[in-house]
Amino acid sequence: EKKLEELALVDELTGIHNRRFIINEVKSVINDQKENKKPASIAMIDLDLFKNINDTYGHTYGDEILKYLANTIKDNIREMDYIGRYGGEEFIIVFPGTNIKSAYVILNRIKNIIKNHTFEEKKLKLSFSAGIVEINRTDVHNSASDYIKKVDKLLYKAKENGRDRIEI
Ligand code: C2E
Ligand code: C2E
Repeated sequence: EKKLEELALVDELTGIHNRRFIINEVKSVINDQKENKKPASIAMIDLDLFKNINDTYGHTYGDEILKYLANTIKDNIREMDYIGRYGGEEFIIVFPGTNIKSAYVILNRIKNIIKNHTFEEKKLKLSFSAGIVEINRTDVHNSASDYIKKVDKLLYKAKENGRDRIEI
């Protein structure tokens, strides 16, 4: 059934790819890199202070914020790029054929769009923290989980350094 197939790949809340799909996409760009030697980049994004949003405005509104974030990212990256929901308020973006410098430009663009958005709850300001890693020929032995660990560490560093930051 189509519905079941979709459920296996799509995040129900946001409609973007789910964790399983996006991890496969990370594996896929690692393999592509080995074949065509082009770099790729992986970004991990986590919404800042999401717990406060849920506590202040309620979980239904929190869900709306997650949908807004997922769709804003999706609308501002290329068709060939992939965005997936990795966990609660955590997202992974895969940029095939894109070096870390370009990935940084893209993430900054999205970061500004989100920062400048005015919500109905006018006091609400959204920001995210992010890490980016490049998949390139210098570390051919890294697996998908190695890269995800690496990018997760950078994301943690962005949080530690005060949030609303991108670490590369
Ligand atoms: P830019 O916006 O400064 O982007 C610089 C480079 O970053 C691009 O060079 C591309 O290699 C990479 N890049 C930027 N955004 C994305 C993205 O969403 N996904 C991926 N995978 N890569 C991205 P490129 O392709 O030579 O483009 C040069 C310039 O042309 C861009 O500079 C931008 O000013 C314009 N441009 C190209 N495509 C679009 C588009 O679809 N929409 C808009 N608004 N401008 C575009
Ligand atoms: P797309 O390539 O799937 O890109 C979707 C959206 O991601 C773009 O919507 C834009 O908001 C963002 N984006 C992608 N690449 C870049 C970039 O290099 N720089 C910047 N600043 N933003 C980028 P947008 O601009 O409305 O474009 C819609 C579609 O029109 C694009 O879909 C692409 O198919 C085409 N397009 C627009 N500008 C260019 C261009 O300069 N070169 C090419 N080859 N296609 C373009």
